[in-house]
Amino acid sequence: MPIEPPLTGQDGIATQFDLTASNTFGLPAIAAGYVAISDTARIGDLIARADWAGTPKLVLGGGSNLILAGDVAGLVLKVEIKGRQLTGEDESFRYVRAGAGENWHEFVRWTLAQGWGGLENLSLIPGTVGAAPIQNIGAYGVELERRFHSLEAVALSDGRPRTFDREACGFAYRDSVFKQGEAGCWLISSVTFALPKQWSPDLGYAELARELAGSGVRAPTPRQVSDAVIAIRRRKLPDPAEIGNAGSFFKNPVVDARDFQALIARSPDMPHYPQPDGRHKLAAGWLIEQCGWKGRDLGPVGCFERQALVLVNRGGARGADVLRCAAAIQADVRARFGVRLEPEPVFIS
Ligand code: NAP
Repeated sequence: MPIEPPLTGQDGIATQFDLTASNTFGLPAIAAGYVAISDTARIGDLIARADWAGTPKLVLGGGSNLILAGDVAGLVLKVEIKGRQLTGEDESFRYVRAGAGENWHEFVRWTLAQGWGGLENLSLIPGTVGAAPIQNIGAYGVELERRFHSLEAVALSDGRPRTFDREACGFAYRDSVFKQGEAGCWLISSVTFALPKQWSPDLGYAELARELAGSGVRAPTPRQVSDAVIAIRRRKLPDPAEIGNAGSFFKNPVVDARDFQALIARSPDMPHYPQPDGRHKLAAGWLIEQCGWKGRDLGPVGCFERQALVLVNRGGARGADVLRCAAAIQADVRARFGVRLEPEPVFIS
């Protein structure tokens, strides 16, 4: 079969594609190739195409948890697989499947509109359904893994389909096998959630409980919890449509009991959350703030004034500027507290 030259245009592969608008931090980068995937059958064809066979493949969802440190030498597969449906139910759960290219927040609101609770604490998280399991998104005491049933994925090596159950995903705090051993190996095409029929609100986070109490809500519905989460997030977090950012930039560090004792002795007002394994979770935003970074810029990258955990693009930032600012913050936190901050977004270099 003759080798086709790369196509440009709506239905084919665009070459030298500008990714600036495809990542919420607004970082400039050029992809050697770019193609939108709205149907999994297409992936097999792309893998078989000799002209792109040897090149790395980068799967892109909403681009909201991504730092593009430079140009992308391979082929970007932009996931636009849509669809959401109830696939079954039993005594305890409704099973709801969504295409990986669905917008996460719109999907959450759709489940709530059907009267199905379970995802409300995860409202307004940017990105797509397919990206959600990769970092096991979490907010206000609920992590995706609690509502997860399974996902469908396609191997980028040979187009082979595979179902991952919860165990196979290896979920951990803002982590999964898709960020570890299986990183870069799969394109997630759909995710199925198990939404509980016996719903009760998760109001363990003080700020969320306060928000609902403040609006006079005593026994909230899932939709009211979602509305409260949305209100809090809108107040504290920058809208990527207005100011480029990738959400929380660092994970909250978890330290062992001995390190924790030393830290709390020196900083008795430090927020901390005991973990079931005896370790303590610290608030990365607080550590950064103590180092004087809240509202401070380094070149075109800044530490957001209302939430120190979020780095923002003040205008014209490049990947290298983000790396420089992140490294300066990490160094200051390390020097002052002896704690290592680990970035949350995926870095593409
Ligand atoms: P916050 O209320 O200022 O609290 C700081 C940190 O303390 C949070 O990150 C949270 O950890 C932890 N925390 C607070 N109450 C807790 C409790 N009752 N039990 C255990 N840990 C507790 O946090 P925030 O920055 O405004 O964020 C609020 C929530 O939205 C958090 O869950 C956060 O993870 C989530 N969020 C996620 C992103 C993202 O991009 N991934 C962006 C913004 C906010 P956890 O982060 O482990 O929950």
